[in-house]
Amino acid sequence: MTDHLTFADGAYNRHSERRVDDGFMDTLWSDPKTKVLLVGGEHVSADDNTLVWRSAAEVPEGDRLYLGTVDGTEHAAVMLERVPPPARALRSLATELGTAQARLAVHAVGVAQWHRTHPRCSRCGAATDVREGGHVRRCPQCGATHFPRTDPAVIMLITDDADRALLGRRPEWPEGRYSTLAGFVEPGESLEDAVRRETLEETDIEVGEVSYAASQPWPFPSSLMLGFFGRARTTEVTVDGTETTDARWFSREDVRVLTLSGELVLPGGVSISRWLIERWYGVPLTGSWG
Ligand SMILES: [Zn+2]
Repeated sequence: MTDHLTFADGAYNRHSERRVDDGFMDTLWSDPKTKVLLVGGEHVSADDNTLVWRSAAEVPEGDRLYLGTVDGTEHAAVMLERVPPPARALRSLATELGTAQARLAVHAVGVAQWHRTHPRCSRCGAATDVREGGHVRRCPQCGATHFPRTDPAVIMLITDDADRALLGRRPEWPEGRYSTLAGFVEPGESLEDAVRRETLEETDIEVGEVSYAASQPWPFPSSLMLGFFGRARTTEVTVDGTETTDARWFSREDVRVLTLSGELVLPGGVSISRWLIERWYGVPLTGSWG
């Protein structure tokens, strides 16, 4: 089975209680053992397939972010407009990192991207200050505090009574590429209802029972993917033609034959969509669009 859930599995210690201590970041920065990652947008300091950590004395000035402790070593990041080389986009690097390294980098990129797009107070418009180890912005004018935003999205593998899987494709994808359905959760909506609404909107399939499977942070820029299995009440597919240009029921035999022939191309090993498909299929599949 794929290891994408290493993004979410287990935890390094984020020590969120330390963030409220105003002197903590200075203490962290004065410790030569603290490891600091450079982060800017989706990019992190990295050489080939490895994150590049520096001591606090070696990194440029910028807003500081406390990440947490791994194996007794403190890890932090400095958030820059642009990461000087060597740097890599996390999206392409994440599959190559080990568990703890991937989790640290996902944390850093997720928070850094929020800071980049939220420099001002959404209540009064004043420029805000970074506080609490980089996890809060506070407005000096009206006193409002702002927290990093996460956008919940549901992603679902829907099966019918014959245990076939419903996979769809988007208009911009290359020929043969299919994946699980997905969509953002709306305000006031339960996750289960979001699964049913998105499936109905995209394919006209009615979904009954819905069960939670797993989640995956996807900070490009700020999604949390919530994975579900759902059971269809109907089987006649009609796509919306805009978000989804085709959707079909695939048996396991269809998937086996069509992935071998290259006519069906499934999502890559790091994605929760791949994980959901393999969980349904029963064993790991070969071939993907990476
Ligand atoms: Zn304000």
